[in-house]
Amino acid sequence: MTGLTLPRVLIPESKIKQRIQDLATEITFDYRGKELTVICVLKGSFIFFADLIRQIDLPISCEFMGVSSYGNKTASSGEVKMTLDMTEPLNGKHVIIVEDIVDTGLTMQYLVNNLKARKPASLKICSMLVKPESLKCDVEIDYVGFKLGKEFVVGYGLDHAGRFRQLPYIGIVENEH
Ligand code: 5GP
Repeated sequence: MTGLTLPRVLIPESKIKQRIQDLATEITFDYRGKELTVICVLKGSFIFFADLIRQIDLPISCEFMGVSSYGNKTASSGEVKMTLDMTEPLNGKHVIIVEDIVDTGLTMQYLVNNLKARKPASLKICSMLVKPESLKCDVEIDYVGFKLGKEFVVGYGLDHAGRFRQLPYIGIVENEH
């Protein structure tokens, strides 16, 4: 990260680790006796996903989907585009969508509608971050890591114009002068 001003820490690595452990324990309990299909929504959730699934004590299958809504902007365009679809059918499976952040909720609404049509036995949502004040549609997030205000955050998988995904914490980019 040489030559860049590092984002200010909002949620430190230790807090993220602890929260992921709690979420994984809750999921393991809720789905005991079942097999689980977990869907990683690329790109932003890849780090959260990798850390979360390694703490879940259940037989799981991992799937990957790509959606894009923002381009390089920091405000939702409201348009959602699928950039990668998964390879396996979801029919009759217990599915959790693992997302990095729910802002307006439009991406999640699109995903839920798309995946419900594939007739899973159950469908739940886990998001590392949620911005309740920004929600524009009625999506219920079953497992929430942290609630935020309206600030734009980076790190731990989240980017700003392609940068900062590898930061081990969640931070805020200070105004660039
Ligand atoms: P929504 O459709 O809920 O408005 O937006 C979802 C997507 O917007 C997320 O998957 C993420 O890619 C992007 N997004 C929303 N808020 C933030 C933020 O604070 N930081 C970053 N890096 N991306 C965000």
